[in-house]
Amino acid sequence: MAKKKTIDWQLAPAPESTDHVRIDKQYELFINGKWQKPKSGKYFDTINPANEQKLARIAEANAADVDAAVKAARKAYDTVWSKMPASERAKYIYRIARLLQEKAREFAVIESMDGGKAIRESRDVDVPLAAAHFFYYAGWADKLKYAFPGKNVSPLGVAGQVIPWNFPLLMAAWKLAPALACGNSVVLKPAETTPLTALKLAELLQEAELPEGVVNIVTGAGATGAAVVNHPDVNKVAFTGSTGVGKLIQRATAGSGKKLTLELGGKAANIIFADATIDQAVEGIINGIYFNQGHVCCAGSRLFVEEGVYDEVIRKLKHRMRSLVVGDPLDKNTDIGAINSKEQLATINRYLKFGVADGAEMYAPTCDLPTRGYWCRPTLFLNVAQSARIAQEEIFGPVLAVQTFRTVDEVIQKANNTPYGLSAGVWTDKGSKIFNLTSKLRAGVIWANTYNKFDPTSPFGGYKESGYGREGGLHGLGAYLRLN
Ligand code: NAD
Repeated sequence: MAKKKTIDWQLAPAPESTDHVRIDKQYELFINGKWQKPKSGKYFDTINPANEQKLARIAEANAADVDAAVKAARKAYDTVWSKMPASERAKYIYRIARLLQEKAREFAVIESMDGGKAIRESRDVDVPLAAAHFFYYAGWADKLKYAFPGKNVSPLGVAGQVIPWNFPLLMAAWKLAPALACGNSVVLKPAETTPLTALKLAELLQEAELPEGVVNIVTGAGATGAAVVNHPDVNKVAFTGSTGVGKLIQRATAGSGKKLTLELGGKAANIIFADATIDQAVEGIINGIYFNQGHVCCAGSRLFVEEGVYDEVIRKLKHRMRSLVVGDPLDKNTDIGAINSKEQLATINRYLKFGVADGAEMYAPTCDLPTRGYWCRPTLFLNVAQSARIAQEEIFGPVLAVQTFRTVDEVIQKANNTPYGLSAGVWTDKGSKIFNLTSKLRAGVIWANTYNKFDPTSPFGGYKESGYGREGGLHGLGAYLRLN
């Protein structure tokens, strides 16, 4: 009998064009509506993690620059923004949302170039959701008293906001839109590896003719973030990032009277019951952990499978993993782009070693990786002990730790057995099981028969070491208002 032929095919490259993208060679600080050189005279490079090429030189703000930004924000708050009728404020925020939609392609491409995420995600998730947040909060600006009936609402003053690199533009939108809608002015510090879309947003704010000083953007690393957080004239601190830095900020702001929200790390449990629609659940697992290279605070990084369907789930999961395309973030076929930085890749590789050393069985499909840049294949670990580091600590990469369970009580206990409490997923045919689990899992967001779905109307935030305060929805307004 003739040997059966296997077809080895690959998708033809489908790169997104970069013709419509403008990235300047150098970016200054955006203070008081103008581009200002850093007083330190220092700059750092932002690179494309997919090819290690430099994209631009970025100004590094020191404490004196941050002070100038806070002073500009205070002046804008006192003289313009807090005095303006709320319906007028809303018009600016609507304008920002519309301009973002108009420039969506440019923003998406720059996000992928600076951060390494697949264009499919920056184009279909990050940028549309960022615009949606501005639209949503623009609608609230003149209705704040209806959001909190019986209360007098007033803005807090100057908000200092520090954000991470995993959703650079979206995190900026999550922070800016509610702050502005509530009448606050802002000093925003983007992450040092992904400053470009925030700086493009500054250009867009100029085009929207937002009054000068209402939003100031200062770039730099941890020291710049600390200068924002510790500035005595900042009334509100909003931080998204690691739990370690969140704890430092909590200590630094204690007793200062500053209002604080912390959106920190996670180690979510994605729970598959035997009565779930398995094919759909497998897609949800893939989306939960491999989406955005696993650089997602709410990533479903721990998978719990009911024993009866374990073999089927793992077989289908491995099959699906083999079809994931890893490579050029600008290629429209790419599922998994580049790891954001050399440091983050080193962290992930360290955890891969921990997983093997702790006795878990590692699986990653074989696929070619580009020779330059920072890459990690989608990886899973089987036979993971509950105490293993890969089951307890946030890896922030495309690495899944798989465990099994027999009873509902067992999986609830295992899922809650982590210092984090940001999110979880439940896959089952039974509504009663969903309600039982959602009331017992200690997680701020729980998805049922889906994963990683976001909407501006829906609040997001954590329990335990995942932080406190909520962003999004009506709850997200409360973080930027004084309620009497
Ligand atoms: P990180 O804490 O290292 O940095 C976050 C931001 O804080 C950056 O802008 C950084 O420059 C700044 N920073 C660093 N040290 C600082 C200091 N001492 N004072 C003030 N600012 C400082 O985190 P990261 O590695 O950029 O981001 C990944 C982390 O963010 C993960 O733990 C992830 O789970 C978390 N995250 C959480 C959410 C959420 O909504 N809960 C969303 C996205 C990311």
